[in-house]
Amino acid sequence: MLDLTYDAPKPKVISGATGDWELVIGLEVHAQVATAAKLFSGASTQFGAEPNSNVAFVDAGMPGMLPVINEGCVAQAVRTGLGLKAEINLWSAFDRKNYFYPDLPQGYQISQLYHPIVGEGEVLVELGNGTARLVRIERIHLEQDAGKSIHDMDPAMSFVDLNRTGVALMEIVSRPDIRGPEEAAAYVGKLRQIMRYLGTCDGNMQNGNLRADVNVSVCRPGDYEKYQATQDFGHLGTRCEIKNMNSMRFIQMAIEYEARRQIALLEDGKSVTQETRLYDPDKNETRSMRSKEEAHDYRYFPDPDLLPLEIEQAWVDDIAASLPELPDAKKARFIADFGLSDYDASVLTAESENAAYFETVADGRDGKLAANWVINELFGRLKKEGHDITQSPVSPAQLGGIIALISSGDISGKIAKDLFEIVYTEGGDPAKIVEDRGMKQVTDTGAIEAAVDAVIAENPAQVEKAKQNPKLAGWFVGQVMKATGGKANPAAVNALVLQKLGL
Ligand code: ADP
Ligand code: MG
Repeated sequence: MLDLTYDAPKPKVISGATGDWELVIGLEVHAQVATAAKLFSGASTQFGAEPNSNVAFVDAGMPGMLPVINEGCVAQAVRTGLGLKAEINLWSAFDRKNYFYPDLPQGYQISQLYHPIVGEGEVLVELGNGTARLVRIERIHLEQDAGKSIHDMDPAMSFVDLNRTGVALMEIVSRPDIRGPEEAAAYVGKLRQIMRYLGTCDGNMQNGNLRADVNVSVCRPGDYEKYQATQDFGHLGTRCEIKNMNSMRFIQMAIEYEARRQIALLEDGKSVTQETRLYDPDKNETRSMRSKEEAHDYRYFPDPDLLPLEIEQAWVDDIAASLPELPDAKKARFIADFGLSDYDASVLTAESENAAYFETVADGRDGKLAANWVINELFGRLKKEGHDITQSPVSPAQLGGIIALISSGDISGKIAKDLFEIVYTEGGDPAKIVEDRGMKQVTDTGAIEAAVDAVIAENPAQVEKAKQNPKLAGWFVGQVMKATGGKANPAAVNALVLQKLGL
């Protein structure tokens, strides 16, 4: 595999009245596990179901009901851990985090504070300008989601929907290795991409499948390097945590706002209070929600209803053996095997379905040409109609057929676009369409020569001009192409025009 090497990106620097400040960011990403049933019950996880229709007795906190771990959720967490090159803990345990919410009828959330199922891992975050940063993962633990309280449907009443109560979440905690708003968004994007490849999380941010708590602090240049050398958090500033962000754009705006708020405080001689804040997109500001000082005592303790979770190495090995090729490896292979640019390889590997489509098109053909057609023509056309690759009316075999016709010289690039349009709207076998509709490129020099001679004979004034200024030869090429309905081989036309004009 080709080794992709990147430069380290620079941290975001904000200049204040007293000098420069750098940003330090750590994310806690909550990813909904893609499974049919909840973490500790058999109730369905289907999104958009009738309120309170996907609720088992244990989800509703009925007395005497016992949680039973869903093996599928455990497998998905292990799979995600392996995809993030993380350590898998064969022994983990569930704790109760006690708090009251109307949409959490148990009165506690079952989580894994002390012994998470996944330990340290890493994610390569590329920034699209030839730079990338390796962000360390601290841990991933499994936990239950809460339900939903609805306060805006009735002026006097609030409603509770327990469909989401007990759905499995993976909380993926990063080290504070992220150094700017764009990096934070790129990190979430990369996690999302990896989990979609793995099939462990749908990553639909609008549906709340993927949400992030964003921790932000600021420090002076040089402090972060001291933290890196010692892992001593004392070198970093006090952080604030912005809760529950489910939009890449808002994550970036909230970080920017929060960093500037902290800098203003510090430059004013005040200090940052460690607290949880909420971002208000309408006002583009963060507001205090609760301070960490008076933070609730969650009274974590091991859940007595659940035995520690023990898994076997052989089971983990089976899951490891079933992992698909992941984005970094696929991208490196596309660059090495097809000679693609870093950018094209990134676009084509963004989703595994796109990558699979491209590979079928490019198989045994010119990879760069295939990449151009997939990205510019096909993706461009699909995007215009709001479709994704799975809805493409053009199959990889059909697009491959068009590319084969270009490579063999049977059709010109211009005709190929017309052909693509026909295949896109009407379907059919490209080679047969070309044959039936007489779209073949004219490479027969005799026919081209006749067309060139005719254009030259009809335009004596232009001929004189072109003899003074050879750049005007292009005009003749254009005329011949027009006269032949775009079917003449442009290279052959060009050569003949130059020859006949004596240039
Ligand atoms: P808690 O559970 O109280 O939120 P954690 O120790 O689990 O605390 O940390 C939560 C997140 O905060 C992690 O992603 C971590 O990287 C990040 N973090 C810790 N210190 C800082 C800091 N000084 N600046 C920015 N992020 C930080
Ligand atoms: Mg936290």
